[in-house]
Amino acid sequence: MNTSARAIKERSVVRGKERSDRAENSGGVVEDEPPGKADPFGDCAEEPPSKTATNRGRFFGNVPDSNWNDWRWHFRNRITTVDKLAGFIPLSSSEKAQIKLVTMKYPLSVTPYYLSLIDPDDPDDPVRKQSIPSILEITMGMVGLEDPLDEMRDSVVPGLVHRYPDRVLMVLTDICPMLCRHCTRKREWRNGGWVRNPAEIEAMLDYIRHHKAVRDVIISGGDPLTLSTPHLEGVISRIRAIEHVEIIRIGTRFPVVLPQRIDDELCTMLSRYSPIWLNTHFNHYQEITPEAAAACDRLLRSGIPVNNQSVLLRGVNDSVAAQMKLCHGLLRIKVRPYYLFQCDEVQGTEHLRTTVDAGISIIEGLRGHTSGLAVPNFVIDLPHGGGKVPVQPDYVLAKKKGELLIRNYEKRLFRYRNMKVSLEPEPAPEVVSSLSSSDSGLLVETGA
Ligand code: SF4
Repeated sequence: MNTSARAIKERSVVRGKERSDRAENSGGVVEDEPPGKADPFGDCAEEPPSKTATNRGRFFGNVPDSNWNDWRWHFRNRITTVDKLAGFIPLSSSEKAQIKLVTMKYPLSVTPYYLSLIDPDDPDDPVRKQSIPSILEITMGMVGLEDPLDEMRDSVVPGLVHRYPDRVLMVLTDICPMLCRHCTRKREWRNGGWVRNPAEIEAMLDYIRHHKAVRDVIISGGDPLTLSTPHLEGVISRIRAIEHVEIIRIGTRFPVVLPQRIDDELCTMLSRYSPIWLNTHFNHYQEITPEAAAACDRLLRSGIPVNNQSVLLRGVNDSVAAQMKLCHGLLRIKVRPYYLFQCDEVQGTEHLRTTVDAGISIIEGLRGHTSGLAVPNFVIDLPHGGGKVPVQPDYVLAKKKGELLIRNYEKRLFRYRNMKVSLEPEPAPEVVSSLSSSDSGLLVETGA
């Protein structure tokens, strides 16, 4: 019997409603429980926990399904303080002090669902590294830039970034259910939670209406799905009414950190404004749970393609094995591994960054060794708004006229006859030599 199953069994005693209410009203913390053994919501289960791959049984075994399946419950009960966190994860007093210090600059927020993916006994747990503050966020905090992508500079009206000719990024809120320690927009956290007001949203829409080259609108955040479904529909319906906008994309980590949000109401609403694409952000196969799979399935059945944009993170997914498992897991739930991002040079994230060479080696270890669908594009989002640039292993070792020297994934070498630019027959050598230098533009270039 695994730990979760054992824990679920151990919690079979129902102790009644009173303790349930107390636990829930306290935001999920029962003080005085020893770290790692907390039973923060009390033994309040009237309904058994669902089947899950998480540690729900250990941490939240007594939370009834009606709460566990309600994304608003998770949102209300986010773990945002060190004391609350220590009720679940064993923390020494110095670790508590360090985390408290970090949260003065970079706050903490983890949903109960995402917390339940952590193995509390493993300090190197990949989910923990993404969600629990590290003192290195402060001690290495001066390395990097606050806004490496220069999004502030490229904002044409507050909240609307227009960098590329045919697409814009709409930032509707800075609120996220989970504050990822590697977040590119970490600078926004100090501003508290904000949501764009109706006048600001109208200004963004007005800009899009007047820029006919914009055919693709990306709605992001923060996490836009923190907005209520009717609120979100108010924005999406008005974007859809703009004739030259062809596609809408939503960037959200909800399928990973709070999949309960992907409910029927949301999916039905989104399906009315097709084509909508959704990009999400799984970084580790431990995040691919039955709940996450069901959320992605609901989206797909509603006609919303789901792609994944993961970030290369030190100690989380920086090996071929971890990426292979992640990408295979994604394909099993019908989510396409789309991008693997080199972690941006954001202040407070240096400890999670690794080298570009590590990313290239991962692609090298995937390409050819597994199906092409399981190989994401490894990209660097260049600082100062330079945009995304793919970075790949070198497979073309040499080029000369008419031929390329290429290696394959097994490092075997192959000569490849290149196609000529023109299908016209090449001039005979004597004709070529009789041409004057001013006629050289007539020569057919046969090289690659
Ligand atoms: S979900 Fe995205 S925007 Fe929100 S904290 Fe995580 S990385 Fe940042």
